Amino acid sequence: MKTLKTKHYLVAFTLGLTLASCSKDEAVTTDPASDNLNETTVLSRGALPEAVEGNLIWEIPGVKAHDFSFNYNKLVEPSECGTTPFSAVTSYYNNALINGFISSWDGNPDAIGVILEDYFAINQIAALIGKNADTFGANGEYTHYVENRVRSLEKFWDMPDLISVRGQHTYTLEDLSFIRFIYENYSNATPEQVDYLVGIANHFNTTSDQIPENPFFASDGFASSTGVIVIGDGIVSMLAETDLDPKVVWSGILAHEWGHQIQFQNFGNWDYPVPAFSNTPESTRMTELEADFLTGYYLTHKRGGTYNWKRVEDVLLSFFNIGDCGFTSSGHHGTPLQRLEAARQGYLYAANQQKKGQISDPQAVHDAFISALPGIVGEAL
Ligand SMILES: [Zn+2]
Repeated sequence: MKTLKTKHYLVAFTLGLTLASCSKDEAVTTDPASDNLNETTVLSRGALPEAVEGNLIWEIPGVKAHDFSFNYNKLVEPSECGTTPFSAVTSYYNNALINGFISSWDGNPDAIGVILEDYFAINQIAALIGKNADTFGANGEYTHYVENRVRSLEKFWDMPDLISVRGQHTYTLEDLSFIRFIYENYSNATPEQVDYLVGIANHFNTTSDQIPENPFFASDGFASSTGVIVIGDGIVSMLAETDLDPKVVWSGILAHEWGHQIQFQNFGNWDYPVPAFSNTPESTRMTELEADFLTGYYLTHKRGGTYNWKRVEDVLLSFFNIGDCGFTSSGHHGTPLQRLEAARQGYLYAANQQKKGQISDPQAVHDAFISALPGIVGEAL
């Protein structure tokens, strides 16, 4: 039955849930009439057990630049979100998801593994094996836009047919036969255990309006060195809820992930002050800032995204203020100000180049970034 060739590895799920430190069973104080996203608090977090493992044996293949991802530890911890518009949105959906889970939960710890662990892996696998991955937006409403943007990026960076951009949708998780297929191919579950796990999925899907509808279930945003970019509907819709144009959000995330693909293509050839993709905070910050520089360059270039800087700045500022609400910590990606400055330097470089009608090749843009890097991280100050 192992017909899938996607490389996967045994992952040690070390969740280390810290729920016990939050043992008060708070009452539900959700006020459905409230427009204030911060006023939804979480029901009975302390009732959730401390450590539950998922059932899937899976890791994204290749070198990864993972910009957005669900983080169970951060999701279930009481969050201190709310300092930025985007963190208020993620905090709202975070709490809605936990409340939705608890409302349908009978106390069975296995359900945590299925709904709050496996569902996220299932949707990653879906994107990478091409399940519902060729449409963008919950109703496919951004499919043409993304396809056009991909063609623009291919032309601008002279990278035809090299990168596969994949969508990710919450509705994929409504398909119990697909969930069954994943358990049969990506876990060690026996047929009886698969029936049991799918039964849990069915229960939550039919009794909770958050499962799997919550945007966190489709919130991946990453680039893999296997030539794949995954962008979930959820990350775009949550960013767009901060009063941003969803099309510019799609473009911003896509241009950033494309920047990582350019880095992967040139891995080993490009010189950096510290080794690229070496899994240190300095390395991650450097490659992220370069992806931001490439983003600012492409999005504002008159032969690229053609956006004016102000529109780009608004989107990137939200994008950079990801905070700690269920997403990869922004700390290693550079501070929001460093990231915005990297993108601004890319914009200034584009403004200078396009006067001459030029598009620089990736090597020249990389060299420009390396020259600007000390100023971006403040070492020149
Ligand atoms: Zn990135």
